[in-house]
Amino acid sequence: MTENPLTAWSYSRLNVYEQCPRLAKFRYIDKKYEPQGPAMARGNKIHNEAQKFLEGSTDVFPDSCKNFESEMRHAKTFKPVVEQKWAFNNRWKPTGYLAEDCWVRVIVDFNIEYKDNTGDLVDLKTGKKYDDHGSQLQLFAGATMMMFPKMEHITVRNWYLDIEDDPRDPEANELIAEYSREEAMEFIDDFTERGNEMLTTERFPPRQSWKCRFCHFNKHSTGDCEFG
Ligand code: SF4
Repeated sequence: MTENPLTAWSYSRLNVYEQCPRLAKFRYIDKKYEPQGPAMARGNKIHNEAQKFLEGSTDVFPDSCKNFESEMRHAKTFKPVVEQKWAFNNRWKPTGYLAEDCWVRVIVDFNIEYKDNTGDLVDLKTGKKYDDHGSQLQLFAGATMMMFPKMEHITVRNWYLDIEDDPRDPEANELIAEYSREEAMEFIDDFTERGNEMLTTERFPPRQSWKCRFCHFNKHSTGDCEFG
């Protein structure tokens, strides 16, 4: 049994916890040192470049986003709100990102609200498409409805900046989902349950998978975990 001091979750933390509770403990409770990989540093740099272009700090289009140049230029004409930090309490009421009652945090790369109570929300991805990304879109959709009470319909998209457009497969480098308010609200209950599980559990067992090979704490690296 481990005392669980966690009071807030995010999609990435929940994802780590669901993939391997012990890794979540090492990272978020024990706060063990973990070097930032080159992929993460690169991803942060590209996000900054995209942010500057979309918010209008520069008109120079970043080469790192060239696979989505026309889409990003078009989105910019709608004056998107860029790089927002949303936070909710455990009743999904908006609160401060660092507030004491913050229970879940959601970072949004950019979103656009239209006058007809519909919206677009885009998450910029570097690297590959992974299966869990669809679930993240559901969190974005649910959180949008809690953030904007008048929103009736949301389109959520992942843009995979590293994957080239494929005319034979329009969704090769994009993941899109559309939800009505009613549909998006159904995800809230599921995430409430999953978030509560992570924040209340006292058990952080190892869960082996192919990812152990790349885990910084595996038996070949720090040796904190006996697997890998
Ligand atoms: S090596 Fe595998 S089981 Fe151990 S902490 Fe890392 S991901 Fe979890």
